[in-house]
Amino acid sequence: MDLLKPKIAIIGAGNVGSTFAFSLMISGLAREIVLVDKNDSLAIGECMDLNHGLSFAHPTKIYAAGFDGCENADIVVITAGANQKPTETRTDLVQKNVSIFKEIVPEVAKYAKNAILLVVTNPVDILTYVTLKLSGFPSNRVIGSGTVLDTARLKYMISDYAQVDSSNIHAYIIGEHGDTELPVWSNATIGGLDIKTFCSEYSQHRNAKNELIEIFEKVKNSAYEIIKLKGATNYSIAMALVKITRSIVRNENSILPVSTLITDYYGISGVCISVPSIVNINGVEQFIKIELSGVEQELFKHSANTLKKFIKMIDLN
Ligand code: NAD
Repeated sequence: MDLLKPKIAIIGAGNVGSTFAFSLMISGLAREIVLVDKNDSLAIGECMDLNHGLSFAHPTKIYAAGFDGCENADIVVITAGANQKPTETRTDLVQKNVSIFKEIVPEVAKYAKNAILLVVTNPVDILTYVTLKLSGFPSNRVIGSGTVLDTARLKYMISDYAQVDSSNIHAYIIGEHGDTELPVWSNATIGGLDIKTFCSEYSQHRNAKNELIEIFEKVKNSAYEIIKLKGATNYSIAMALVKITRSIVRNENSILPVSTLITDYYGISGVCISVPSIVNINGVEQFIKIELSGVEQELFKHSANTLKKFIKMIDLN
């Protein structure tokens, strides 16, 4: 990767792809941003609009292209696919989006041989696995945005509840980005204190244990709620993608719960799922085996096994 001239290709110029392009342009992390969408006019229009704001941001080359525009990209962010409908679960989307990925991934792999592929389209864990298999890339270079967004939502809601800066909250949601995800309460801290202790002693919440469980339920249902209200989620996922991109481009070694291929994680292997991982210029440098309580281990295994059932049903030929 040329650290002075990072090139980032975004496949899918819809709600998520275009908002990410906008956030990325403002961040100044990329020197070149390419938008690829089967709807050519959408990609061209988004690029025109972005370019017209460029004099307020950083010098960046922004343009629409076909898949050949991915040539020499350092990161390819895949947001293309069918969107989640109000009544649809993420897993309902599997068949639709696997077919789309069969078209996209071989093209991306042909033009961006050395890129890190960052998958966003849902169901993200399954599609990260599909991308890994279809691209033939090493697993460190195929990342799903996973539960980075869910973890950010959890931090925001706990921050509001405990009245502390969310950067002082250390908590992760792991597992599937979806219905079987789980919060790791056994490891969650605020200011070095166990989260429940902090909330009851410093925020005067007498019923912190139950209220934290309610907060997690709200986090889990956030996407459904936002989609019901405005049709799609775009801003927070775009910010999450900028964070992951920054960690790669600036080699920051951030620990993020991205979806990655795990091997012997509490006995589970061969599935892409979110666990805290060191993210840097190599992609996922390493996943971290955090301590889980007995109940959390069972929930994590259930989440991984749910994903595995879907993976078994997929025909990659
Ligand atoms: P959208 O419908 O607005 O955009 C999708 C775009 O993909 C469209 O512009 C469409 O033309 C394009 N597309 C479809 N097939 C294509 C192909 N073969 N080649 C090129 N482009 C193609 O959808 P959106 O709201 O941007 O959401 C995109 C995806 O991101 C969805 O699957 C959604 O569920 C997912 N998402 C994931 C997270 C997360 O945390 N992982 C968060 C938000 C949304």
